[in-house]
Amino acid sequence: MSDNNTITVVGGGLAGLTAAIACAEGGASVTLYEAHRTLGGRARSSAEPYVADDGPHALYAGASLRWLAERGLAHPIVTPGVRELRRVRFRHADRVIGRPPLSLFRMIARRGMTAPVDEAFGQWATRHFGAEAARAVGGLLGVVTFEADPGRLSAAFVWERFRRVTALPPQARYVIGGWGRLIGRMAEHARALGVRIETGSRVDRLPDGPVIVATSLDAARVLLGDETLRWESGRAVLLDLGVRRERADLFLVSDLDEGGFLERCSLSDPTLAPPGESLVQSHMPMRAGESKAQALDRLERLADLGMPGWRERVTWRRDGVANRRTGALAPAGDDLARPAGHRPRRRRLAGR
Ligand SMILES: Cc1cc2nc3c(=O)[nH]c(=O)nc-3n(C[C@H](O)[C@H](O)[C@H](O)COP(=O)(O)OP(=O)(O)OC[C@H]3O[C@@H](n4cnc5c(N)ncnc54)[C@H](O)[C@@H]3O)c2cc1C
Repeated sequence: MSDNNTITVVGGGLAGLTAAIACAEGGASVTLYEAHRTLGGRARSSAEPYVADDGPHALYAGASLRWLAERGLAHPIVTPGVRELRRVRFRHADRVIGRPPLSLFRMIARRGMTAPVDEAFGQWATRHFGAEAARAVGGLLGVVTFEADPGRLSAAFVWERFRRVTALPPQARYVIGGWGRLIGRMAEHARALGVRIETGSRVDRLPDGPVIVATSLDAARVLLGDETLRWESGRAVLLDLGVRRERADLFLVSDLDEGGFLERCSLSDPTLAPPGESLVQSHMPMRAGESKAQALDRLERLADLGMPGWRERVTWRRDGVANRRTGALAPAGDDLARPAGHRPRRRRLAGR
């Protein structure tokens, strides 16, 4: 076997496992190294009986989902149906309302428009749709940007996400049993294709031969010795709760005021919580200079609005901060296309 046919993958998250499977399918002999004891990275889920992802996680319909489905790895997944959609609410002007404001509908009606890369979303959207609509979209997209000031981001970047989030039928899919299950299926598939998976194996120096680096960007920058590997990402406080179930509880609250998001994930997948209880995952983008406690206060206030009485019903709780690990953000003028720099051809970067 030629050297080119032996490939090392560094990182055992979604990107590393995808790369390993694709290379093995192409006939390569693949070894994957994962620093942690378990695979999954940001796609890990907590242990039963409260199965929470690393923040609420949805798979979006599109090429990635198709790739997984073609290999029998996507299912079982669930699409939010009428039961879920009837329990969606919005926070607007500090009230919980059943429909987004009219200005947002006007934007949806013109979602075919093209937005520029070079202009800030806030400026572009205010010019076309007014300040209220621009703010509401920023809040709506907190779920995908984890950014307290989305108005400063590239209009093209925000608009593309707006189109995805407002597409009908809804594009979000939930992996039954949490993303950890998906990782388990991918790992099993990779092993069946002959991929050698070494967990608890941190790579400090890249070996000779073709390598795919599928770590966080910070780790990749060090491993590849490439200082240009930097981009912005969001910062948000996360709160996951087990609560005793009440019939009136909502499915989802999208916070148009502050970019927060709260989802009762166990409504569509009851396996995530013990019988009689719900699993709720939520997050709130942190403002510049804001402490975790302050952001958590704002998030708990969103929970008060969307799920009255939750504090007396809590059976399990964890909170944390997601800092620079929620995916790349493009400020105005940035299309996220990065030159390959002077990276050798046999070094490839995967993930985001
Ligand atoms: C709060 C939150 C919510 C999110 N919500 C969504 C969502 O709804 N939908 C969505 O599509 N995405 C979502 N994401 C993003 C998604 O989780 C990530 O894009 C995806 O999991 C990243 O996978 P990855 O393999 O690129 O990186 P990672 O998951 O970070 O995997 C990298 C792996 O490399 C390992 N590693 C690092 N350094 C080394 C080394 N030197 N040697 C060996 N191994 C190493 C790490 O241990 C890790 O396991 C969310 C992320 C967060 C944090």
